[in-house]
Amino acid sequence: MTVAIIGAGLAGLSAAKALVTRGISVVAFDKGRGPGGRMSTRRAETELGHLRFDHGAQFFTVSSPAFAETVAAWQDAGVVAPWSGRLVEIDETGDVHPMQDKPRFVGVPSMNTLIRSEAQGLEVHWGHQVVGLEERHDGVYLTLAQAPCSGPFERVIVATPAEQAANLLASVAPGLSESVRSVQSEPCWTAMCSFAQAVPVVWDGARISGDVLGWVSRESSKPGRHEAEAWVLQATADWSQRHVDADPEAVGATLFADFQLRSGAPTPEFLSVHRWLYARPKPAVFSGSLWRDDFRIGACGDWSADGRVEGAWKSGRALIDVLPACP
Ligand SMILES: Cc1cc2nc3c(=O)[nH]c(=O)nc-3n(C[C@H](O)[C@H](O)[C@H](O)COP(=O)(O)OP(=O)(O)OC[C@H]3O[C@@H](n4cnc5c(N)ncnc54)[C@H](O)[C@@H]3O)c2cc1C
Repeated sequence: MTVAIIGAGLAGLSAAKALVTRGISVVAFDKGRGPGGRMSTRRAETELGHLRFDHGAQFFTVSSPAFAETVAAWQDAGVVAPWSGRLVEIDETGDVHPMQDKPRFVGVPSMNTLIRSEAQGLEVHWGHQVVGLEERHDGVYLTLAQAPCSGPFERVIVATPAEQAANLLASVAPGLSESVRSVQSEPCWTAMCSFAQAVPVVWDGARISGDVLGWVSRESSKPGRHEAEAWVLQATADWSQRHVDADPEAVGATLFADFQLRSGAPTPEFLSVHRWLYARPKPAVFSGSLWRDDFRIGACGDWSADGRVEGAWKSGRALIDVLPACP
């Protein structure tokens, strides 16, 4: 039996690994040119050298024992490490408070290393966008954007953000598609910038209660990074939603102006912007079934858990845990 997985982010790869452990063969397809999904890393040639920015997930925390065990194995393999950056919260009045102290982890030397490492040993076709699913007498076939269709597969798992999953599922699993469609994602405008001098603040990351920026972090404070002064600035979900179709250059200027006001940052040597349309699911507990009744078509993703890295990992595991014995 071969299972096709659409989306090789952490959720899809966690499902893939659970299947492989059961002796089931897996083929994954991801539209991204390389590993990352929402844990991806943007590379940039700048005056300060070849820099990398973790412009999606910033760090992750651990709550469940099962995930703690997995993170310990990732640490032993050298693909993640604790981030001991000085983190603060900046309240509405601009006052700065230390952030609750708890272990926070990042991929090393960049966030997407973790996805690259999880994909190792699996058959993953990067740069392959799936645009449709078709059921025939001998199994499910995937329609690909720029390649011949692929199949037949005995089972298919859709492991993309909720909106994209709902669209792919609509023709073959309308019920599942409808329940996944009940989840809505929030956008996030993100700016990446680097500086010839240090930004004059004593902290390395801040959660901000403000109108424009919601989070900023000093990339160079994370383990294994380039020493150049590089920052990631993320707008709040509200601001991003209100400006979802704004001009990227104007967005970059607004995000940077807010950062400069709060930090006294010098003029950046480099500034680039990315819009995450489906950054994080709105907080909601997804309670529907994740499989079509006959267990041929399933779905997982952070949206079916808590919208974070740990949730994505758990969602892939949980999907396979309820799968009856083959075929
Ligand atoms: C800006 C931002 C900040 C965040 N900060 C944090 C944080 O600090 N801590 C934390 O824990 N979490 C954070 N998150 C959330 C975290 O990144 C996600 O919860 C997690 O990475 C989701 O994993 P996933 O596998 O469910 O989805 P994804 O990582 O999105 O993987 C889905 C994959 O599906 C692929 N795909 C989509 N459609 C198709 C298609 N049609 N065909 C083929 N492939 C397709 C995509 O290319 C992608 O690789 C953040 C996310 C963003 C965007």
